[in-house]
Amino acid sequence: MTNWQSIAEKVLHGADITDLEAFHILECPNKELLSLLHSAYHIREHYFGNRVKLNMIINTKSGLCPENCGYCSQSRDSTAPIKKYRMMDKETIVQGAKNAHELQSGTYCIVASGRGPSERELNIVTAAVKEIKQQYDIRICACLGLLKPEQARKLKDAGVDRYNHNINTSENHHSSITTSHSYHDRVATVTKVKNVGISPCSGVIVGMRETKQDVIDMARALKALDADSIPINFLHAIDGTLLEGTNELNPTYCLKVLCLFRFINPSKEIRISGGREINLRSLQPLGLYPANSIFIGDYLTTRGQEGLSDHQMIEDLGFQIDYVTMDD
Ligand code: SF4
Repeated sequence: MTNWQSIAEKVLHGADITDLEAFHILECPNKELLSLLHSAYHIREHYFGNRVKLNMIINTKSGLCPENCGYCSQSRDSTAPIKKYRMMDKETIVQGAKNAHELQSGTYCIVASGRGPSERELNIVTAAVKEIKQQYDIRICACLGLLKPEQARKLKDAGVDRYNHNINTSENHHSSITTSHSYHDRVATVTKVKNVGISPCSGVIVGMRETKQDVIDMARALKALDADSIPINFLHAIDGTLLEGTNELNPTYCLKVLCLFRFINPSKEIRISGGREINLRSLQPLGLYPANSIFIGDYLTTRGQEGLSDHQMIEDLGFQIDYVTMDD
């Protein structure tokens, strides 16, 4: 049996795990899974105690995207029957922040489909962010696609705290998932937001026919990018998308992936994101031993579980909601 606790101690002393140890985590026998989770929790507890951060999304613009990301129901190539609409008005975005605040969400994520924001869209978002910041003590994360440096600056000046732009998969696997932009385009946007002092949020989607080496490469790439927040999505293959029918995940493997990301990115916010309910299923609560953050409410085009069930799950675990502190 692997001594997971000694690997966790090594990580807490600042060392990286080896590739062999990373493979062992992903291939951990299920009879050792509780021991692996315990060790991952040892690391998580060191940095975050038993606190859980909540994030809530508003999809301010849906569908109509010219890109061809294979997992995405909003892509030009998807035939999924989703709602399609242009950018919402400022008032609706501000109202969403009120809802997020009432559900004790520390972060409100303003998301829009598309390759990147138009000037009009950016103006709506920045006006909404300024108003939200005057009214609520809540962290704002924007997710608007690829950015130019001046757009990143404008978001920073409006008060955006965090910007999400996922690497999604490994550099090696990226062209199997999308060809309308490159892995380097994605990394460049993360770097641009960092350069203007916005906290970078960048994560992945697991279950897109990648290899275990790809999963390890993703975790290491995010460490190299120094992403403060790492959303881990588990593919929910929506009918009509290019990845329709892909079904590679099971709950115990998802837990091992979360542990891997904790061991490689020990001090970072690791968020169980899209696909949590259908892929972790009855094991969802165990995901909060390696991860310290979840989305509440709905995702971009799919329903999540009711916000209050998540509050109950956290309470049942004996964990606590990490209500927003703007300086963390
Ligand atoms: S992930 Fe974003 S860029 Fe890709 S198709 Fe979906 S909305 Fe467009």
